Amino acid sequence: MNKQELFAALESLGMRPGRGLGQNFLLDNNLLECIVRSAGVVRGMNILEVGPGFGALTSLMLDAGANVCAIEFDRRLAGYLRSTLGGRSNFHLVEGDACKVALDGLLPMPFHAVANLPYAVSSVFIARLLELPEPPASCFFMLQKEMAQRLAAVPGTGNYGALSVRAQLVYDLTLERVVPPEVFFPPPEVESALLRGTLKEQRPPREVRERTAKAAKVAFNQRRKKIVNSLGPLYGADNVRAALETMGLAADIRPERLTADQFIILAGELEKNNGAADAPEK
Ligand code: SAM
Repeated sequence: MNKQELFAALESLGMRPGRGLGQNFLLDNNLLECIVRSAGVVRGMNILEVGPGFGALTSLMLDAGANVCAIEFDRRLAGYLRSTLGGRSNFHLVEGDACKVALDGLLPMPFHAVANLPYAVSSVFIARLLELPEPPASCFFMLQKEMAQRLAAVPGTGNYGALSVRAQLVYDLTLERVVPPEVFFPPPEVESALLRGTLKEQRPPREVRERTAKAAKVAFNQRRKKIVNSLGPLYGADNVRAALETMGLAADIRPERLTADQFIILAGELEKNNGAADAPEK
């Protein structure tokens, strides 16, 4: 979709792009094609797209033969999509809020997620994907650059935090490229980036992910503090010291030094020892 086509489509609906809904439409056809290629979209693939807008990305994925299920919140855009793409047998539109629509069972398995996400809801939506019993086999998202950096951050860097740990329990993540504001209309006030996520073959079960995410969240609440000080009040300082020792980690280690896998072990040790402390005496 070029600028003239977008303007004509906006005019036909008598609408202006809304900031609250993150309506920054992609204008660069080369970039759109690059997204479809890089996401590995092929015939028969099941794709979940959030925020199809005027269908610029959607129609390329449909042309590639993918089955696309797209969730669009804006009624006017949903109406536009029904009239332009509604006749295509591989297109399925869900009119609603991607933060609320039931995702489980929405698409046949396996499915993949490809989208130029509305930035305001990207963290909530990604959190929902991470919580699914069967998350998408891969994700390819346009995101606010800072969000992509946080998700893909490696230990020891300033962007690494609880969100990185939580996402990296489920996905191997890479920031593919930074995208300037000019390729969108209207241009967003921030830079964007393309993020690739590949589902890990070995994923911890849900309860392990939950307890690990909880420990990481508490540890990173005070990221400059040593782990023993941030986790001590919740799990007991002796318990934290013992867990770190079992793992061969320094007693004064800070959270940004631990990988997602180390957080899994740490949370498991903490729970094990907490459980032992809580157990009734025989
Ligand atoms: N895919 C189109 C493109 O690349 O040009 C539009 C992307 S635009 C960044 C974000 C789209 O998400 C808009 O169409 C907007 O109406 C839609 N949107 C915003 N919030 C949403 C939500 N909570 N659920 C579903 N769609 C939403």
